[in-house]
Amino acid sequence: MRGADKLQIPRFARNDNLDFMTTTDVLVIGGGPAGLAAAIAARQRGLGVTVVDSSVPPIDKPCGEGLMPDGLAALADLGISIPAEESHPFRGIRFVSSESAVDASFPSGHGVGIRRTALHGLMVERAIEAGVTLRWGTTVTALDHEGARLGDELVRVPWIIGADGLHSRVRAWAGLGGGACRRRRFAFRRHYRVAPWSDCMEIHWGPRSQLYITPIGREEICLVAISRDPKLRIDEALADFPAVAARLEQVEPASMERGALSLTCRVRRVCAGRVALIGDASGAVDAITGDGLCMAFRQAARLAECLAAGSLEHYQSAHRSLMRRPAFMGELMLTLERPAWLRRRVMRAFASRPEMFAKLLAAHVGELSLAGFAANGLALGWGMLAA
Ligand SMILES: Cc1cc2nc3c(=O)[nH]c(=O)nc-3n(C[C@H](O)[C@H](O)[C@H](O)COP(=O)(O)OP(=O)(O)OC[C@H]3O[C@@H](n4cnc5c(N)ncnc54)[C@H](O)[C@@H]3O)c2cc1C
Repeated sequence: MRGADKLQIPRFARNDNLDFMTTTDVLVIGGGPAGLAAAIAARQRGLGVTVVDSSVPPIDKPCGEGLMPDGLAALADLGISIPAEESHPFRGIRFVSSESAVDASFPSGHGVGIRRTALHGLMVERAIEAGVTLRWGTTVTALDHEGARLGDELVRVPWIIGADGLHSRVRAWAGLGGGACRRRRFAFRRHYRVAPWSDCMEIHWGPRSQLYITPIGREEICLVAISRDPKLRIDEALADFPAVAARLEQVEPASMERGALSLTCRVRRVCAGRVALIGDASGAVDAITGDGLCMAFRQAARLAECLAAGSLEHYQSAHRSLMRRPAFMGELMLTLERPAWLRRRVMRAFASRPEMFAKLLAAHVGELSLAGFAANGLALGWGMLAA
C-alpha cells in the first residue's frame, strides 16, 4: 500500500482556534516537498512549526519522480527512507538518441523512482511524527508587517517560509521580485503499468522533445515528455521515439496525462526581514536535471540552521551556492536540445568515450567538482572534434 493511502491525515478546519498561534516559531506557506522538508528540518532543531497548504493530501504534481543519490541522502537526514515496496531503484542515467546511446552508473549509491503522491505521503507522515502542525485546505491570502493572513485570521509568527511553488505569491508579497525566468518549457506526465526495461533513468533526445522515463515500481514507469511546444502531448511526442512507442503500444496507462510548466528561473534575493523562500518559490532549474527535489531538501537543512541561529543572514549565500551546480548542469544538458547536428556530435563523443559521460554524471550528483568537470569538458570538446 502506498504511504499516501495508508495515512490518517489530520485536517484542521479553516477557522479552528488552535493554540498553534502561541507555539509556532515558523509558519511554512506551502506543504509540497519543499515546505514539508523545511518544516521537518526546523522541528529537528527544536523550533515550533506550522505548515499551511490550500490543497489536501495526497498532493500530486507532474514530476519525473526520480530521486538522485544526493537527494536520497538529504531525505535520510530528514529521517525519511523510501520503502522498497513503494519505489524502484536505478543504478544511473542513460541518454538515448536516434543514433546512439550511452549510460553510466552513479559513482556511489543509486537513485530511486517513487510516485509523487507516495513521496508526499511519506513526508507528511514524517512531519506528523516530528511534531509539525499541519493545516490543509487553508490558503494564505496576504502577508503584512505582523505576520500572515489566512483570510480573516492573522497569524503572528517570528519566521515565515515561502514554499508556495513556481508562481510564489509569498515572493511578491515579501518584495522579493517576480523571479527572472529565462526558459519556459511544457511537460506532460503519464504512468504506465509495465515492468521497467532499464536499470537506469532514461532521457531520450528527439527533434521536438525529450522523453524522461523513470522506473517507479516493479510494474510501473513514469514517462514525461518535455518540449517548447505547449501543444505537444505525449502520444504525438512518442511518434519521434519509435522504440519507446513500440514498447508502450499494448500497455495500459496507469494515470491520466497531466501537464506542468518547467521553468528555469533565478530569484535574486531569497530572504527579507522575517521571510525566506525555499523550493521552486526560490528559483527553479529545468525539469530535465531531475534536481528540483534534491535542491529543496538541501536548502531546507541550511534554512533550518539559520532559523535556529536566529538569523537569515547566511541563507542567501548558502542558497546561491546550492543552486550553482544544478543551474550549470541544466544549461549544459539543454545545449543538447538543439541543434540536431550538435546533439549528434555530443552523443557520438559520449558513445565513443563513455568515461566522459560518467564524469558528467559524477558532476551532476556532486561527486566531481565543477572545476574537475570543466577539465573533462575540454576533453569532451576534443572528442566532439574527433567524432
Ligand atoms: C515535469 C517535471 C518533472 C520533474 N521531475 C523531477 C524529478 O524527476 N526529480 C526532481 O527532483 N525534481 C523534478 N522536478 C522538480 C520538482 O517537481 C519541483 O522542484 C518540486 O515540485 C518543488 O516543490 P515545491 O514544494 O517547491 O513546490 P510545489 O510542489 O509546487 O508545492 C507548492 C505548494 O504550495 C501550496 N500553495 C501555493 N500557494 C499557497 C497559498 N497562498 N497558501 C497555501 N498554500 C499554497 C500549493 O498548494 C502546493 O502544495 C520536476 C518538475 C517538473 C515540472
